[in-house]
This record gives sequence, C-alpha cells and structure tokens, in this order.
Amino acid sequence: MSNLEVKTRTDETAILQNQDIKAFEERLRGKLFRSQDEGYDQARAIWNAMVDKRPALIVRCSGVADVVESVNFARKNNLLVSVRGGGHNISGSATCDKGLMIDLSAMRAVHVDPGSQTARVQGGATFAEVDHETQAFGLALPNGVISTTGVGGLTLGGGFGRLSRKYGLTADNLISANVITADGKLVTASAKENPDLFWGIRGGGNFGIVTSFEFKLHNVGPGVLFGPIVYPLKDAAEVLRNYRDFADNAPRECAVWADLLTAPPLPFLPEAVHGTKVLFIVPFYLGDTKDGEELLRPLRRYGNPIADAVAETPYVTTQRILDDLYASGSRNYWKSHNFTGLSDEAIDTLVEYAGKLPTPQSDILIFHLGGAINHVPPDGTAYPHRDLLYVVAPGGRWDDPAQDDAPVTWVRECYEALTVHATGQSYVNFISESTGREKEAFGTNYDRLVDVKNKYDPTNLFRLNQNITPTV
Ligand SMILES: Cc1cc2nc3c(=O)[nH]c(=O)nc-3n(C[C@H](O)[C@H](O)[C@H](O)COP(=O)(O)OP(=O)(O)OC[C@H]3O[C@@H](n4cnc5c(N)ncnc54)[C@H](O)[C@@H]3O)c2cc1C
Repeated sequence: MSNLEVKTRTDETAILQNQDIKAFEERLRGKLFRSQDEGYDQARAIWNAMVDKRPALIVRCSGVADVVESVNFARKNNLLVSVRGGGHNISGSATCDKGLMIDLSAMRAVHVDPGSQTARVQGGATFAEVDHETQAFGLALPNGVISTTGVGGLTLGGGFGRLSRKYGLTADNLISANVITADGKLVTASAKENPDLFWGIRGGGNFGIVTSFEFKLHNVGPGVLFGPIVYPLKDAAEVLRNYRDFADNAPRECAVWADLLTAPPLPFLPEAVHGTKVLFIVPFYLGDTKDGEELLRPLRRYGNPIADAVAETPYVTTQRILDDLYASGSRNYWKSHNFTGLSDEAIDTLVEYAGKLPTPQSDILIFHLGGAINHVPPDGTAYPHRDLLYVVAPGGRWDDPAQDDAPVTWVRECYEALTVHATGQSYVNFISESTGREKEAFGTNYDRLVDVKNKYDPTNLFRLNQNITPTV
C-alpha cells in the first residue's frame, strides 16, 4: 500500500501518510474506501454521469461519530472535502478529485412522531424513506418530485415540490438541525439555538454537515387528485396560455406543473404518439376529489387533449412516478430561470425550443410555485426567491458522451432566449456550474450569509458548493 497524493484546500497537492490513513480508518465505525478497494467505483458514482471524479478517500459514515472524525481528519490534514447526501446535485458537488468524500448515504433513518406531527431525519436519507415513513401516519413533508433525491442537499438549498404552494419549502418546515461545523463540534440550529446558523441553512447550505433534520409534517392523502393531460406540441402555445391563466390564480391546494417533452411509451398514450413532441399539463390537488374535479374543469376541458389521465392517486405514487424517467447514470446539463409570470413571448420561446429538443430524454419543465412559499419575506430565511410563480428549467439528458455538444448548446441557447423574460436570479439547486453563481442564487441575502460563514466555517472547509467565501 502506498502513501496517497491528495488535494488540499489551499489548491496544492500533498502526500498523506499511510499510517495516518490507517489510524483514521481504525477510529471509524463505517467503511473507508481507497481507489483500489472493491466498491470504490459504486461509492464515487453520483446521479449525473457528466461528473466523473476520483476522491482519494471515501468515508461511508455510519453515524455522527464518523462525521466528526472525518471533519477533524480533513481539517487537520488540510484536505479538500466534499459531502455526499443523495448525490443528486447536477453540478456534482457531492464528489471531488483527490480529496475526502464524506458520504452520508448509510445514514438514512427516519423517525416519525405522529403525536407532534414531526419527523427526525438523518442527513443521508432520501425522500423515498421520508414519504414511506410519514405516509404510514397520513402525514407528509413538502419535498421534490423525484423520490431518490437527497433530503440533505434539497433542504439546504430550499426545496420545493407539489405540496409547497400549500405548506411552503422543505426548508420552511425545518424545526431544527444537528450540524457538525468545521471545528468538528455538534451544534443545534433552531429558532432558539444558534438562530443565525438556522437562518443560513434554510437555503444557504455551506456551513457544516447536517447529521439530522427535525421537520414539521402535515396531513396529506392517502389519495390526491393527480395526473397528466397531454397535448400535441402544435397546440402547446395556446394550451400554455390557458395553463398560465389558470395557474396564476389557482388556490394553494392546487399545483399544476407542465413539461414539454418527447412522449415516452406510457400505457395511457396511443402508440402513434410515442416518440412525438408533446406538452404535459400535470395538476395536483390536495383536498376533496369532487372539489378538485370541479376546480380543474377549465384545465381539463381546454382544447383537444390526446389523453387525460387525471385520477385519484396515492400520494406516495405521485412522488415516485417520475423516478424511472430521471434514473441515475445518464448525462445531464440543466439551467433554470425564475419567473414572476409567464408572458406570451416567454411561452412562445418555450414552444420554439421544445420543437428543437436535442435528445429524446430532454425536456423543459415548468414548476408552479408561489402560494405559501411567498408568505415568507425574502430575508426570512437564506432562500431569497419569495416573489416567484414559476421556475423554468430546460434540461438536457442523454447517455452517449459523444453527444455532449448538442444538448449543452441547446440548454444554453434556450436559457439565453428566456433571459429577457425572467427575473435574473435562479434556484441554487438547479445550477450546473459548480460555483461562481452565488449572487444569482442568494441575491440580497449574500452579505448576511458571509457573516454566518465567517462564524461557522472561517477557513472554508465546506467549499464545494455555490460558495459563500469567508472574509475573515
Ligand atoms: C432528478 C432530479 C429531480 C429534482 N427535483 C427537484 C425538485 O422537485 N425540487 C427541488 O427543490 N429540487 C429538485 N432537485 C434538485 C435537488 O434539490 C438538488 O439536486 C439537491 O442538491 C440534491 O440533494 P442531494 O443530497 O441528493 O445531493 P448531493 O449532490 O449529495 O448534495 C448536494 C449539495 O448539498 C450538500 N449536502 C448534501 N447533504 C448534506 C448534509 N446532510 N449536510 C451538509 N451538506 C449536505 C452536498 O455537499 C452538496 O454540496 C432535483 C434533482 C434531480 C437530480
């Protein structure tokens, strides 16, 4: 076994002595992977296959003690650190070259207290575990729309999904978090304890490793009204205008997302439609099904849909239904824009670029936000985008590295064409570039985030993110 060449936080390479690695390994309960170990390649893989990095060491932490050991080992040896939650971040910030990857994926426990309607969730859990455990009690936490996404990264960036118009961001439902800060200490962040850190981790990430989150839950389901109404692309411009008029005024119980895509071979679509470009309008209604059907009538009766698969659906199914379409291991490049409204011109641009989708898996997704999210002031938490109604994300997705150019170019061009209609800011969790987009992501909250960073991570140990650079 030879000593290891590692990357340091000061952008240098250094040699880590074998006996130091061995001593570190002996202090762990979880597993330490070196590049020659069986399982190393699976451990370093993340959701976006565009990012192919080789950490010098990967620690699969089994609990808080391993996280503390790892943070102390990294700090003392000046190692470059990445933190892996669910591994979904498009920029690949969960991994690094030649550094130490602190992998939380074995820390997935979820404990629900039905009496207080709260859950304690470990830092490496995914929303599949959260939805499973909470729905056993008819409860739910607003979160994303793909169940394999990690609770860690999504919550620390804000986090929105179909329940967010009613119950706010995932981060808005955070009661407290246990955080291992750069000095290896465990601190609790809540409204009462370390409120500056509590403010910062609700949208600002960056300050430490969250080993567990405590969330407020809500009564949801088990059934909700949900499903796609599908139109041919030729009708998309007029259908999206009707969609916009409906969504602008929808009650908070209702979130209607839309997607411009190539039709997958879904059983409710006629075979002739498979592989053609289509618009999915996907309502989600929380409440009495009859009330929902009445409310959704103007959407469902509009134009000449190819299919209407809106039906009462188990909430857990709505959360998993897209998992296969967005499975791990493909190449992905995204950008996103925030919108306070969708003008006719913006809609025409979306339809124009949907006509040029570069690969069958690529799409343009419209997230319907607002509602309870916008009832928090922009400086109420680190997540600043409290005036939006829509986030639009052109997403390039493909498998063959030889095809990289076309989808990346298409995403960039679509993003550029939409810029004039958008707010100029964007969601930190949808940024493909690994860093450098902080002002756009954190807006007017950036300076206050620097104060929090100066206090909890003054040497920038946690730097693989849209980085809030300390100034001390
Ligand atoms: C298919 C897909 C669908 C998505 N849908 C949605 C959606 O509907 N709504 C939405 O809001 N977002 C959505 N996202 C974006 C998602 O919020 C981000 O990708 C998020 O960063 C994922 O978190 P993760 O823990 O899985 O990722 P990771 O890549 O593991 O982590 C992301 C960042 O957070 C840090 N991090 C992770 N866990 C912790 C922790 N416990 N403590 C400290 N730092 C941590 C990592 O270091 C990294 O910098 C989606 C992403 C994908 C790939």
